[in-house]
Amino acid sequence: MGEPLVSLTGLTKWFEIGGGMFRRPLHVRAVDDVSLVIQRGETLALVGESGSGKTTLGRTILRLLEPTDGEIQFAGKIVTHLKDKDLKWLRRKAQMIPQDPYSSLNPTYPVNKALEEPLVIHGLGNRQERWERILTALDSVHLTPPEFFAHKYPHMLSGGQRQRVVVARAMILDPEFIVADEPVSMLDASVKVSILRILKEIQENLGVGFLHITHDLATAHHFAERIGIMYAGKLVEMGPHESLLTEPLHPYTQALIEAIPDPDPENRFRERPALPGEPPSLVNPPAGCRFHPRCPIAREGLCDVEEPLLRELRPGHFVACHLAE
Ligand code: SF4
Repeated sequence: MGEPLVSLTGLTKWFEIGGGMFRRPLHVRAVDDVSLVIQRGETLALVGESGSGKTTLGRTILRLLEPTDGEIQFAGKIVTHLKDKDLKWLRRKAQMIPQDPYSSLNPTYPVNKALEEPLVIHGLGNRQERWERILTALDSVHLTPPEFFAHKYPHMLSGGQRQRVVVARAMILDPEFIVADEPVSMLDASVKVSILRILKEIQENLGVGFLHITHDLATAHHFAERIGIMYAGKLVEMGPHESLLTEPLHPYTQALIEAIPDPDPENRFRERPALPGEPPSLVNPPAGCRFHPRCPIAREGLCDVEEPLLRELRPGHFVACHLAE
């Protein structure tokens, strides 16, 4: 295996809140000491409840947020604290597909202007070359004929068409890496599949590396080669998708799998065990394993005292749980 596309070592992002003249500020530990790699052309899905830190992690990797600690390497280059011209290099190589196709397009821009803007910012091509790139990008997301869609405004498009425009805009700079943040969560079920198919095509045809952020394990299973599970700012399990779904090692992953809706209508209303309690506060997370207040097999004197580290228990399959074996 060659050099990884993305490599994170101990990446940490805390947000400061409160504080004042006589009060010390508090810290929301949104992402805490996360290490992982993503290979070129690979899709890693990051799964967890809302508030687990997955979106903050994606935005920090892209340097849309300043990391608090740790290191980010992209294509062999340390990008943790890049500034100005060097950051522009990263902006060209790594893009984001946001969740909301409604708010992520400027309503006053026609599609061709929305797609041309990144090319202009990065000084790429003359007018004719930029036009051709716009048509190719629209074609690659199946908005055909592209000349027809190029002159439409966002309000003239359906939700699925808008999200295709967002994908085309992310692709227009030929990036090597995409963070797709819940890219289909706001779309109708019928449209979701077609957008996921387009993303898969882009990954396979262009060898783009993806970090696919989702709360939905079933989507992750179809889209990603590997899945990472986040809980309260920590990466608690990561492995090849088959291994993780058929033999989950962490009690939290097991609970997420239990909660996947059953496609069999006979079983649809079967009682499913709900995970008790709420996720912990990220300002004062519990000592030891952050999952221990909700864990059905937590061991007193161990899980509430000692933080479990990620261990490789199967080939490529890591878990942070004292009791997993
Ligand atoms: Fe549960 Fe303990 Fe494992 Fe945490 S370390 S998941 S509390 S058994």
